[in-house]
Amino acid sequence: METFPNGMELTWLGHSTFRLTTPSGKRLLIDPWVMNNPACPDELKDPGPLDAMLITHGHFDHIDDAVELGRSTGAQIAAIAETCRWLGSKGLDNLLDFNKGGTVEVAGCKVHMTHAVHSCGIIDGDRIVYGGEAAGYVVELEDGFKIYHAGDTAVFSDMALIGKLLKPDVALLPIGDHYTMGPRSAAEAIRLLGVKTVVPMHFGTFPSLTGTPGQLREHAGDVDGLEIVELEPGSSLS
Ligand SMILES: [Zn+2]
Repeated sequence: METFPNGMELTWLGHSTFRLTTPSGKRLLIDPWVMNNPACPDELKDPGPLDAMLITHGHFDHIDDAVELGRSTGAQIAAIAETCRWLGSKGLDNLLDFNKGGTVEVAGCKVHMTHAVHSCGIIDGDRIVYGGEAAGYVVELEDGFKIYHAGDTAVFSDMALIGKLLKPDVALLPIGDHYTMGPRSAAEAIRLLGVKTVVPMHFGTFPSLTGTPGQLREHAGDVDGLEIVELEPGSSLS
């Protein structure tokens, strides 16, 4: 079992949405989709005060509450350049735009933007706005502990580079299939990343997201020392 830093709390709000409290008490929301997220427990639909948000890409199930929560909390929002530009067009100004390969400081953490293999259109009324590319993040806490949120992605061989360069301690990986990798590909992602603690996400929210943590366990059965942590929405790693 990975030992988590004292004071860290990583809460799954269902689907791909996570709230991270850092050891120094900063609060970071990854992929703000709470109000209409059917997997989000009622008591977390208002995630409370936030210092920052990270957005992996512009699909509604990752960005839907960004504008409202940005206004109500004043949290800084970090995202790929084009998505930030769109958020700016909605009147938000506490934005940090960056791009893949870059590292910025967000809520006292070092945040690295990684590649993801997925699309990134933002639905805006009856239009689809170009949101840049889909991305993932490695969030490095003050003490060096690293959490990789893969966003929505297929498996890709450059996950080995993420493993080599950034050495995540925990990986949050989509396993639902249909719009992202399913369990068999996610098992390969685990091998490429070399990570030993994995939290499955992006499954079960809709009927089409059929992959399960049990299937991931079967496909990754050969990985020594692997721990697959099945969180319930509302529960936390700490
Ligand atoms: Zn998604």
